[in-house]
Amino acid sequence: MHHLLDPASPLAGRLAELGHSPWRAKAVRRWVFAGRASSFAEMTDLPKALRAVLEAEFRVWTTTIATHSTAEDGTEKLLLELHDRHRIECVLLRDGDRRTVCISSQVGCAMGCVFCASGLDGVVRNLSTAEIVEQLVRLARLLPPDERLSHVVVMGMGEPLANLDRLLPALAVAQDPEGFGISQRRITISTVGLPAAIDRLADLNPGYHLAVSLHAAADTLRTRLVPVNEAIGLEAVMEAADRYWEASGRRLTFEYVLLGGINDSPGDARDLVRLLAGRAALVNVIPYNAVAGLPWKEPTAASRDRFIDLLRASGVNVQVRRRKGARIDAACGQLRRLAAGRAAGATDP
Ligand code: SF4
Repeated sequence: MHHLLDPASPLAGRLAELGHSPWRAKAVRRWVFAGRASSFAEMTDLPKALRAVLEAEFRVWTTTIATHSTAEDGTEKLLLELHDRHRIECVLLRDGDRRTVCISSQVGCAMGCVFCASGLDGVVRNLSTAEIVEQLVRLARLLPPDERLSHVVVMGMGEPLANLDRLLPALAVAQDPEGFGISQRRITISTVGLPAAIDRLADLNPGYHLAVSLHAAADTLRTRLVPVNEAIGLEAVMEAADRYWEASGRRLTFEYVLLGGINDSPGDARDLVRLLAGRAALVNVIPYNAVAGLPWKEPTAASRDRFIDLLRASGVNVQVRRRKGARIDAACGQLRRLAAGRAAGATDP
């Protein structure tokens, strides 16, 4: 059985074999991208016999929606169950005119960031291209007919650069006018900072916006928070980020999750100022969102403001990310664990 949403599926070839013109494959996918059909049976402009062949040989969906939650601020989150019963999550964020989707790239994550629910159980597997595209399709369908997706961030579960071979074809669908027509400049790939993979992306396609998750600006602290840093080191991460910047010409973004009492001191802010000196960078400060079962705390308002003021006073561009959808556990990995706990009979935290 082939997946309709996989751009490499043999749909066009099969249609040609059956005597149909090449545009028909685009038309079939369009039914699904535009949210007008969920099955081949609903594609009413196709001959009945063709619908039956497609039904027998292709599958429209690879996932089912396990839960769909909506927050007061309009953020919607889907927990999707995959064919092998694993679960991933993806989020639709509404902000002014922006309709941003945050999608996952793997089941679980091998990076092991200590404050992240996604990494607690390690990585299970890479998502397929169809599974990544399907997150876009399912989230786009949550919008009313007069709204379109405007931005994509690959910042959900998983390390995107560890699954580049399946991610890039999915992002090509996001860009394709026959898919979602989202400009490449509005697509952000977030990484913990894997130098070889950053260089590979720079070679293959440096048009994407790259966001490097730092969380600490000194090696000892970063290794404590992002264990994969031990084998890489900040210097190598920053050098690879610089090379990506040279290839793309676009300002780099660095993510910094602010953990109360851990990486929010004036000394931590000064380390970050030193690290970014001379670089065209934007720092996204993300006040930590407490995760049940993990020991990390949210920063106090005073320590958060002091940290940000210190960066700004030194000329660093800072943006504070609002915690949209906090009420529906929109921090990566939380919903999946909650549902897994429920399935195992655990009490809700
Ligand atoms: S923060 Fe991102 S890279 Fe780190 S463990 Fe979680 S999903 Fe993986």
